[in-house]
Amino acid sequence: MKKILAVCLAVLMLAGAMTSCGSKMFMATGSETGTYYAFGIVLADEIKNAAGIEIGVQSSGASKANIQLIDDETVDFAIVQNDVMDYAYNGTNTFAADGAITSFAAIATMYAEVVQIVASPDITSVADLVGKRVSVGDVGSGTEFNAQQIFEAYGMTFDDIQKQNLGFTDSADKFKDGQLDAFFLTAGAPTVAVTELATAKDFNILSIGETEMAYLKEHYGYYTEYTIGADEYTPNGEPMDSDAVTVAVMATLICDSDLDEDTVYNVTKAIYENIPAITTGHKKGEELNAQTACDGISIPMHPGAVKYFTEIGTIAE
Ligand code: GLU
Repeated sequence: MKKILAVCLAVLMLAGAMTSCGSKMFMATGSETGTYYAFGIVLADEIKNAAGIEIGVQSSGASKANIQLIDDETVDFAIVQNDVMDYAYNGTNTFAADGAITSFAAIATMYAEVVQIVASPDITSVADLVGKRVSVGDVGSGTEFNAQQIFEAYGMTFDDIQKQNLGFTDSADKFKDGQLDAFFLTAGAPTVAVTELATAKDFNILSIGETEMAYLKEHYGYYTEYTIGADEYTPNGEPMDSDAVTVAVMATLICDSDLDEDTVYNVTKAIYENIPAITTGHKKGEELNAQTACDGISIPMHPGAVKYFTEIGTIAE
């Protein structure tokens, strides 16, 4: 009898170990000098503490790459721009050539991602970028689309600049070495790549003019106005010349639409019921708000997230 019990116990333990191995999940974020990566690590820690769900955090090429990583089942969760997830779901813009991807669902919008145009101090307007060496973000990144739309608002195209397609780290490095006059970067501010650059180089962040701001809001509903304070970055130890009025989209947590309802419910609850702990780990936690977490979502939400946000009254029953 004892032997049978021992065998049963061993089988049970093995099954348990297999389940926990098989159940480890992954979240795709962005470049290690962006904001998704650092914020993703804090989220994963808190989800583990509060819900006992283990999620490995991976760096990646950000929004578009992340949606593809969910689609090919490499990861279960990801952080993406809300505009890019709309393009993916509807097969437009950066997803027009390859077609729509609909294998993912939204959980919540989390914090504002600011379109930051970092430029050498002699450049004071987007219009001054004509003929200049400008990085507009990785090919197909959310940043590249934001840059294209901002130029459009100014009646310009990529043909008006010497365009380069570089990620955050490479853009900041080349700007530091004098090989770029400006670069675009869409991420929660302050962004590590820009904070690090400020220790080595002087720069300004460009504002978007009033007319161009109105154009962007009218044509692209996902943009909101966002002001970067002059002291958000201190290039060479000094605040920038002025505040920068620019646009923002939302960093959104998404997941594989096949994930089970309980898992996604528990993950959502772990985040929104532990905002102070997340804020201790990363400043962007301050912007988490359960009341507005469904704003800016234009694609279907996962049923687990819908269950949580209905329970707390964010979604009306
Ligand atoms: N918003 C950027 C993108 O998806 C990434 C931002 C980040 O890594 O913090 O292209």
